Amino acid sequence: MKLAPCAADPARSRGRRYDEPAPSLRSEFQRDRDRIVHSAAFRRLEYKTQVFVNHEGDLFRTRLTHSIEVAQIARNVARTLDLNEDLAETISLAHDLGHTPFGHAGQDALDDCMKEYGGFEHNLQSLRVVDELEDKYANFRGLNLCFETREGILKHCSPRNAKLLGEIGQRFLDHTQPGLEAQIANVADEIAYNNHDIDDGLRAGLLGIDQLRTVPLFARHHDAARAAHPGMNPKQERHETIRRIITTLVSDLVESSRERIVSAAPTSIDDVRRHSGALIGYSDGVREENRQMKRFLRDNLYMHHQVYRVMTKARGVVRDLFAALFPDPRLLPPEFFAESQRLEQEHGPSGRARVVADYIAGMTDRYALDEHERLFDPRRLR
Ligand code: MG
Repeated sequence: MKLAPCAADPARSRGRRYDEPAPSLRSEFQRDRDRIVHSAAFRRLEYKTQVFVNHEGDLFRTRLTHSIEVAQIARNVARTLDLNEDLAETISLAHDLGHTPFGHAGQDALDDCMKEYGGFEHNLQSLRVVDELEDKYANFRGLNLCFETREGILKHCSPRNAKLLGEIGQRFLDHTQPGLEAQIANVADEIAYNNHDIDDGLRAGLLGIDQLRTVPLFARHHDAARAAHPGMNPKQERHETIRRIITTLVSDLVESSRERIVSAAPTSIDDVRRHSGALIGYSDGVREENRQMKRFLRDNLYMHHQVYRVMTKARGVVRDLFAALFPDPRLLPPEFFAESQRLEQEHGPSGRARVVADYIAGMTDRYALDEHERLFDPRRLR
């Protein structure tokens, strides 16, 4: 298939941090994808919370199924726009690798603990996972991914961190854009989580249809679904509505982005990077409708009493772990302890704190709960 001239081209990648021979049976981006799928961090996503803590129910989304949904939407959009489907997939599968246990509650708690030591940001951590923490190749640390994949993983970054990151952080200082495949993965992330959170929220009984109908985007598609299929059961009603919303968002995204690409007429990925704004995006109307939906989910699902209670407890678990491990890093597994000493020598207490954060961020929900029990429950002494 012929790609648009502004698509990322694996043959003209800006390269890997360490030179390697080109793969023979796959493209450079396909190799990146395969390295991500074979990483330990990717397997851990199965047991990390998206919104609902992993053990609350077997059917709720986890970080893993979320990442797969993002990849599926991103591939579809990239293919339709003649952009690089492999790269869009690769970035999508990697985008949440740095997430802590317990979703955003875990991230916020860890960021709080790390306040004096450079902070913690899950998106930055995703890059750290693929650049440093996955450590199983003989010739280099990390997964040694292509620049374009790493560029896509790093979605936001403070100027302070951007300076520390060098080449990959430069665009946050220059205020330039990432490639189109990265832009697609970013919007696909949002399409996936808004819609699966509606689905999970309804299934969990935390959201009601009537309540959701106050959001115009939902009401319109709910009406359309019911008109097309009178007498549906609640499960069908939920699904027929959500699939229409996703189709609308994806179609609008494709059409609006196509128009923007045609009028900007970039002839290379560097033209895309230099463009004054993102070329991938919705029309104004759909952007506003989408914003209303996000606001609704924030107020009614993420802040729901039941979610809030669980997440408050989860924040406490992360805080306790940090409070125990940071002052006494000998409690860490030996390889983390060794690393904490190495980084402490180089960077002082911030180095030690970073290793504690790496250890906690890498935990699955249940590992974090187990570790908490091992460290604090006196009955585990018996
Ligand atoms: Mg995500």
